[in-house]
Amino acid sequence: MPFEDGTSFGQWLDDSKTQSNLEDLGLSKRDIDGYWAYEELFDRARRLLRKGERDTWVGDSPTRGEIEELLGGDKAMIDLLFEASIADVLDDHISDERVKTALFGQGIIGTWGGPREPGTASIKLMHYQGDLTGEGPLWGYVEGGMGMVSFAIADAAREAGAVLACGVPVSEIVPGEGVRLEDGTFIRAGTVVCNADPKRMLSMLDGHEIDASFRDRLERWKVRSPVVKFNAALERLPDWAAAPGETWPARATIDLTGTMDDAQRAFESCDRGEPAVAFGEIYIQTGYDPSPAPDGKHLLSVFGQYAPYTLSAGDWDSRRDDVARQFIDLIDRFAPGFEDCLADYEVLGPPDIESRIGLTGGNIFQGEVTPDQMWEGRLAPRTPVPGLYMCGAATHPAGSVIALNGRNAAAAVLADAGVVLAAA
Ligand SMILES: Cc1cc2nc3c(=O)[nH]c(=O)nc-3n(C[C@H](O)[C@H](O)[C@H](O)COP(=O)(O)OP(=O)(O)OC[C@H]3O[C@@H](n4cnc5c(N)ncnc54)[C@H](O)[C@@H]3O)c2cc1C
Repeated sequence: MPFEDGTSFGQWLDDSKTQSNLEDLGLSKRDIDGYWAYEELFDRARRLLRKGERDTWVGDSPTRGEIEELLGGDKAMIDLLFEASIADVLDDHISDERVKTALFGQGIIGTWGGPREPGTASIKLMHYQGDLTGEGPLWGYVEGGMGMVSFAIADAAREAGAVLACGVPVSEIVPGEGVRLEDGTFIRAGTVVCNADPKRMLSMLDGHEIDASFRDRLERWKVRSPVVKFNAALERLPDWAAAPGETWPARATIDLTGTMDDAQRAFESCDRGEPAVAFGEIYIQTGYDPSPAPDGKHLLSVFGQYAPYTLSAGDWDSRRDDVARQFIDLIDRFAPGFEDCLADYEVLGPPDIESRIGLTGGNIFQGEVTPDQMWEGRLAPRTPVPGLYMCGAATHPAGSVIALNGRNAAAAVLADAGVVLAAA
């Protein structure tokens, strides 16, 4: 995380490097201890929920009471899951504004809310609970691009005897009988497992009688999204003021933002219908895997916030250039001359994510991941509609490239069919 004064803060895999970085920034011992206590609080919650008595991401969600028990009744951890804002947790541990600026972003990812919104601490915890190849909560790049994950799952399914059909949207789910494709073809199936988001699934059930409380729940399901993407092809890597001439930032996740208060104001502007890109998380995929770009060129994508689906003035087509300018200006503050690195770029607002990826509202997780829509508040694979299961990110344990939703759904289908799986 670069700061505008040319200094930076990095979280390294090697804790001693992070410690040196905190010391170089001149933090007090109290703040340095606070930083480590902050990280340990999230890590302790992660270990208890994923590595303790049971892995709470696998199978049905535990109830709130069961979660509290798994956390040993610890008030700070319970608050983290259900109540606290990321700003509150940071304020409780750290006084240095720069470090708080560097850390709050993980509490707002994909969230319709600013860092001072209650429940945002749980967003960081959700992201922190993943486990990359047993190495703990790290992010990874997929060689060849994200689509390779889908290809790998497809290969495994084919190997197990599945027949796949792509590019054939479903228009109707007929409970207990099968699905109708948009071209009118009817596919008979007593069991249907739906990966589309709850709003789309509900529209596919149009005209069929379904349990009123389930319908009501899907209608009330919240899918607001403030996420806007900036995807760019670069002639060369940006030159960061905090690391002049260095190429290693291309192998890091780089967060660019002002203070928590700036981000809170940006959210409030977005809530009024006006885009305000105040937070950008940058990935330079070619820093790890040069294969998706021509020799010597690079790809850079920015996961940005905040921009609403519906704009108070104009529409996405007429405002796209303004929003692109906000991204370029944000990056330029930390990497002067960034605009000259650009070969091409695109901006995808929530309506573009909706139409391109097929996610209602452009919500990246098939529904908001604030505490009210997590754990027991998340949907389960089993539905009250005969023969219909859900397997997407709207189900427990929610979104990210984790494949657990699919696994949980498969386990439910097999259990209901009386198939007993051998222990893994
Ligand atoms: C911009 C963006 C950035 C993200 N960044 C990250 C990240 O850095 N790390 C991470 O782990 N996760 C990230 N995520 C989240 C992650 O990609 C999702 O949580 C994950 O892909 C969910 O997978 P899923 O199986 O639930 O399906 P989804 O990816 O939610 O897809 C639902 C599928 O249903 C299909 N569908 C909808 N309607 C129909 C229909 N009528 N007929 C047939 N098919 C239909 C859609 O086309 C789509 O393919 C990001 C998501 C987005 C959009």
